[in-house]
Amino acid sequence: MAVEGRTHKPVIDFERCSFCAACMEACPAELMPEMRQEIDTMRGKIYSDQDGLVHLKEGDSLPLPKCQSACPISQDVRGYLRLIARKQYTEALELIRAANALPSICGHVCHHPCESACVRANLDEALSIRSLKRFAADMAAPSLLPAKPVSSLNKKVSIIGSGPAGLAAAYELAKTGYTVEIIESYHRPGGLLAWAIPAFRLPREILQRDIDFIRQTGVEIRTGIEFGKDLTLADLEKTGTDAVIIATGTQTGLTLALENEDNYEGYQECLQFLRSISDGMTLEPGRQVIVVGGGNAAMDSARSALKQGAAKVILIYRRGPLEMPADQEEVKAALAEGVDIQFFTMPLTFITQDHRITGLACAKTELKAEDGRPSPVKIEGSDFIIPADLVISAVGQKADHDSITTGLNGKKLEADAGTLATNLPKVFVAGDFAQGSSTVVEAMANGKNRP
Ligand SMILES: Cc1cc2nc3c(=O)[nH]c(=O)nc-3n(C[C@H](O)[C@H](O)[C@H](O)COP(=O)(O)OP(=O)(O)OC[C@H]3O[C@@H](n4cnc5c(N)ncnc54)[C@H](O)[C@@H]3O)c2cc1C
Repeated sequence: MAVEGRTHKPVIDFERCSFCAACMEACPAELMPEMRQEIDTMRGKIYSDQDGLVHLKEGDSLPLPKCQSACPISQDVRGYLRLIARKQYTEALELIRAANALPSICGHVCHHPCESACVRANLDEALSIRSLKRFAADMAAPSLLPAKPVSSLNKKVSIIGSGPAGLAAAYELAKTGYTVEIIESYHRPGGLLAWAIPAFRLPREILQRDIDFIRQTGVEIRTGIEFGKDLTLADLEKTGTDAVIIATGTQTGLTLALENEDNYEGYQECLQFLRSISDGMTLEPGRQVIVVGGGNAAMDSARSALKQGAAKVILIYRRGPLEMPADQEEVKAALAEGVDIQFFTMPLTFITQDHRITGLACAKTELKAEDGRPSPVKIEGSDFIIPADLVISAVGQKADHDSITTGLNGKKLEADAGTLATNLPKVFVAGDFAQGSSTVVEAMANGKNRP
């Protein structure tokens, strides 16, 4: 038993406690909370003298369940799973929404660190927390309206960028009574969720559902306006903005750094590729495609190319399956759909004819540890050529600081990673722009200022 003691003083062995909360439900002190307040009784003293156990005293709060502490926005997983089990879907969604601006989106694409931490896995397998969140959102979202803010603070915040960080920041601020506007350069809100994550993984109506809810809190989203080109900080100040949050993400794809890469026909960076597909471009059928990279963006590019009718898609990754950063579900889906994943393979140079790519020269690698993370090193003499007429690089992204500097009237930003404040008064940063490429829920946590 993980909980010992009688009604006065629970003594919890956190080595064995699975945070199921069954003890809280069974305990009469749940019904009579004043009983829990009793401290320093003789019984309490006896229990306190036991070694190795945690003793709750007045004012102590319980450590968070492992799923909740693993969640960057500290979702009360146990609470909403219990409500779902009781078929109280609206209450479950309300509880989810208390900490999460994008429940339907997270129900589809969150990388669910809660499941990796789930203690149920010690017994058999982790609970399907992400799917249960998705279920609660599907059951209750259409009927749930946002609560109106208690009062207006008469203060305005302008957020640049409508990705998960900008949306989460907007939702939190609107709930507390701020007037919030989001400025977005693309013609649809949602950041990478609106066009980089393919619709077969995140249906657009799901994205729309969460964005509509945020709009109903009073947040205004203005699309098709680029900060730094169509609008500057000075313009925003003229409209009476009290603070500006830069949440423009990491939108510039890193290149493979191979010779002449940009000059060849048949080379694309993955964000460019995914955006053109989202905008309705189709790939000529029968193409031979190579995707270079090992994250979700690489999987999405490879799967999108296959769905577009590519004859063959080979994904090369210079490390092994254990090092691959893509979510396991995405890797499994890519393999099941027919993507050929070649591990321990690095690109060397393009093979071309008349400036068109006809193949990619590659080599096998091995991991060698020097300081820290083992690095892939080319195995001499292992070179080979993979025929291809389209090579997509998916090796990471970085923030575009130049356009932001232009928008800030030439002033360079220096941000404090802890507070997300910057060297410019009233200007803050959030999300991937502040912390580098991450995930939806980590960008949201950062937008809520939980870096
Ligand atoms: C292909 C792909 C698949 C992914 N899959 C997953 C996944 O399955 N799960 C997961 O958790 N994470 C995933 N991620 C990562 C996740 O999408 C990002 O971490 C997250 O979107 C970052 O949120 P953000 O709000 O910081 O920035 P973004 O989502 O990048 O949003 C920034 C917004 O700012 C706008 N903007 C940029 N410059 C300007 C400007 N000058 N003026 C006005 N607006 C501007 C952009 O148009 C964009 O809408 C994926 C990323 C990619 C590329």
